[in-house]
Amino acid sequence: MYNQLERILFSKEQLEKRVKELGATLSNDYKDKNPLLICILKGSTLFYADLVRAMDIHLNFDFMAVSSYGAETRSSGEVKMIKDLDCSIADRHVIIVEDIVDTGFTLKYLTKLLCARKPASLKICTLLNKPSRREVDLTPDYVGFEVGNHFVVGYGLDYDEKFRNLPEIGVLKEEVYK
Ligand code: 5GP
Repeated sequence: MYNQLERILFSKEQLEKRVKELGATLSNDYKDKNPLLICILKGSTLFYADLVRAMDIHLNFDFMAVSSYGAETRSSGEVKMIKDLDCSIADRHVIIVEDIVDTGFTLKYLTKLLCARKPASLKICTLLNKPSRREVDLTPDYVGFEVGNHFVVGYGLDYDEKFRNLPEIGVLKEEVYK
């Protein structure tokens, strides 16, 4: 796997340290609120698993899967629901846990959908943020790291369903996807 990477962007140690910091911040902000943390499948799984273990307050799990309709329609922001939540979010303090915010279309769709279900509050926690690529007005509330305009893989993030098991986050060599 490593020979297909241009470079490592974030080491295991950097990820562990930052996720622990985010967990501590969320524990402080959501003390006594019993938040519902929504894991967006599949890219967020490793981040989610580490984040919830870095939080020392009561919280609940739920999972959602979405996908964009494909490269051509991506700019139109069409998103398809693959798996909905199991529980009601009405009057709950909800945190969406995402791997990366790129154009922002996915989270714009999700926040609109979830807001209509009347949660007590709704915030976005993303491991990575690519602000230079944003096409809609969307600002995540909690961000692990800002990244430039690179295609990154590892720690849950895939290329063609591969590289999710890489413990680090790296920049994929262009020759792999071109
Ligand atoms: P958005 O709707 O914000 O453009 O896209 C969000 C989704 O696009 C992410 O959840 C992720 O699946 C995918 N994505 C965007 N940038 C990257 C990237 O650099 N690497 C990987 N592996 N996926 C990305």
